[in-house]
Amino acid sequence: MASKPDQDQLDYRAIIEQVPAIVSIAQTGADGRWLYVNGWIERILGYSVEEWLATPTVQRPFHPEDADWVIAEERRIETEAPDEEFVGEYRMLHRDGHAVWLRDTGKLITDANGRRRWYAVLYDISEQRTSAEELERQSAAQAAVAQLGEHALERIAIDELLNEACAAAARVLAVEMTAVVQVGIDQDSLDLRATWCALAIEPLLHVPSIDPGSQIGVALRTGRPSVIEDWRLESTLRRGAGMANADARSSVCVRIEGHEVPWGCFEVISSRPRAFTSTDVSFIQSLANVLADAIERQASEDAIEHRSLHDALTGLPNRTLFADRLDQAFERLRRRGNSLASILFIDVDHFKQVNDALGHQAGDELLISIAQRLREAVRPTDTVARRSGDEFVVLLEEIISERDAITTAERIAAGFARPFVLGAGTHFVTASIGIALADGYMSATELLENADTAMYRAKERGRARYELFDEDMRVRAMARMRIESDLARALDHGELRLAYQPVIELSNEAMYGVEALLRWDHPTRGPIPPSEFIPVAEESGLIERIGRWVIEEALHHAARWAQMRPDAAPLRMGINISTHQLQSPRFPEMLAEYMASAGVAENVVHIEFPERVLLDDAEPVRRALRQLSEIGVALVLDDFGTGESSISHLIDLPLRTLKIDRTYVAALTTERRESQVARALIAMGQALSLRVIGEGVETAQQAIALRQLGCQAVQGFLYSPAVPAAEITALLGAGARVTRTLG
Ligand code: C2E
Ligand code: MG
Ligand code: MG
Repeated sequence: MASKPDQDQLDYRAIIEQVPAIVSIAQTGADGRWLYVNGWIERILGYSVEEWLATPTVQRPFHPEDADWVIAEERRIETEAPDEEFVGEYRMLHRDGHAVWLRDTGKLITDANGRRRWYAVLYDISEQRTSAEELERQSAAQAAVAQLGEHALERIAIDELLNEACAAAARVLAVEMTAVVQVGIDQDSLDLRATWCALAIEPLLHVPSIDPGSQIGVALRTGRPSVIEDWRLESTLRRGAGMANADARSSVCVRIEGHEVPWGCFEVISSRPRAFTSTDVSFIQSLANVLADAIERQASEDAIEHRSLHDALTGLPNRTLFADRLDQAFERLRRRGNSLASILFIDVDHFKQVNDALGHQAGDELLISIAQRLREAVRPTDTVARRSGDEFVVLLEEIISERDAITTAERIAAGFARPFVLGAGTHFVTASIGIALADGYMSATELLENADTAMYRAKERGRARYELFDEDMRVRAMARMRIESDLARALDHGELRLAYQPVIELSNEAMYGVEALLRWDHPTRGPIPPSEFIPVAEESGLIERIGRWVIEEALHHAARWAQMRPDAAPLRMGINISTHQLQSPRFPEMLAEYMASAGVAENVVHIEFPERVLLDDAEPVRRALRQLSEIGVALVLDDFGTGESSISHLIDLPLRTLKIDRTYVAALTTERRESQVARALIAMGQALSLRVIGEGVETAQQAIALRQLGCQAVQGFLYSPAVPAAEITALLGAGARVTRTLG
């Protein structure tokens, strides 16, 4: 423009300045420069006319996505089609960084000097473009939210959902980075759970402490979305390490709600300034809400599952989960074949005693500490479970030999050696442990039963110890199981009956009373002695029903025999009672009811119990015994001399009679040491003013010796074995005398 502008040209310029568009004239080619630009350059792109004119045309502030194609198209027209018009829509970046959509119509015009120049008009079409884009984005946003919701309903894993949300937000909003962060259990730290990132940055995985003045801090606290259009203009919020790391220029942060406290945040970050619209923000919030619902549901499902598989008190796996782990262990065992698995069955000794004496609260505390000590005694890969009450099981996998199982049992025992500090005080507790080993050929149930059997052996052998399951135990366990299942039917099938053994008064050899003894005529195995089936009945709990039947049956006969001889002293009825029955708090009451309904006087009934009932859970048993004595029932200590009771146990019990066990009676007429013990036992009974009955008297010499020592009564084969009720009836009819002429 060397020539001086004339009046006409100036007018044109004035008009051109009025056109609401950028109007420019420029040289062609890669090194082209601006010849003219009107003032709208500043209104539309923020650059002053001087600034604009000072930069080469190739350095126009194109949006990075548009620069290449625009320049290529210009070059094409310049070299190949100079008559073609350039028409295109593209973005340039405003001086402040935001994108501006322009419609460019340019034409090559040859000037007076014969040089081609670009004459261009650029309209700002941002508004049109954004509203079209906005519409498109809105429907994409709706589709994304709907799809995420659908996937959430399909129970897709939470981490997958988080990733999907990140990708969807990045795609729909065309931002460089999105992230989901979760608040730690400490309520202070943040962990990155998912991210979508187009930038080459290392995302920040963990923030140890939430800055309350950061965008996340604010969003978490207020629950309102926080939108920053340009971090460079932000003066109140701090950008924080995560945002700085991502070089954020603009960002949105919304809260993901949680059950009681916020779960975390959803962040959308752009490296350019950006005015997020309210639609954008509500889209981000919708994604966050779908995530919150899915997380919440998953958490409650997890909680339900956890509850159904764990013991509420100790938090240990329960029976169901243990069974599952056991099955899995067996599968692995069969596949690998070169290792062993072992189960330790652990039963707390005298737990009931602690529970009764200290209360359930203390009992619970004890179980919780036991659970903890068990966990400490095993490897992290081993399973410790609570089976029931005071029974625990440990599953050891991949062990080499039984030595490993024994070592663990010893560690467990060592754990019990330390006192348990409970709210109610410090207590020592022991445990009985049964160990069983399995190879791939055994069933899981078998293994568990074997460990259980071994645990019983440990109990039998005095508790506070472990026992290893062996073949001998297996045979006995099988027999016991068979008895148990047969016994369950025996009562209903009338296979049980009572036999009565006369108790003879030594002074006149008259039948003073009888002892009711249970008999089982097994349909195929013949008679089974009480010593074999009564312990089984006690263990299985069947003793309760059987015991009630014994009482009813014995009282029925006692009443009949009393009616036979209304003037004579009634025949005493000895009934054997096991520990289990005495532990039932209703027992004395129940017996009184039965006596009343059978019409039997209180002094007729003699309750026989062995010494060992005084050892386990002594207090409730003693209470029951005292109550029985109060209603007039006589208490007879059976098998005296075989148990471990001390004299002090006997002194404060309202005992009436001692029965000297037949092993001492048998020893009486020999030179054996037991003979001396027998004498001492009888003397002890006398010293306590108790009636003493000798059991199992088989010879006249034994009867004579007993009489000399001051024993009042005897029973035994010398006079009569236990006989059917009819024989007792006959004996009563004949005067009730069973003379053996002792001389
Ligand atoms: P126990 O109460 O000490 O019963 C005495 C046992 O000695 C009976 O054995 C009886 O048959 C046996 N006996 C009696 N005289 C002689 C004799 O001269 N020589 C020998 N060698 N034995 C003699 P049984 O009937 O086998 O009963 C064993 C144990 O079973 C009983 O010992 C008792 O503790 C228990 N028992 C029996 N019936 C019942 C019952 O109905 N309920 C409960 N809980 N236990 C019972
Ligand atoms: Mg007895
Ligand atoms: Mg006895």
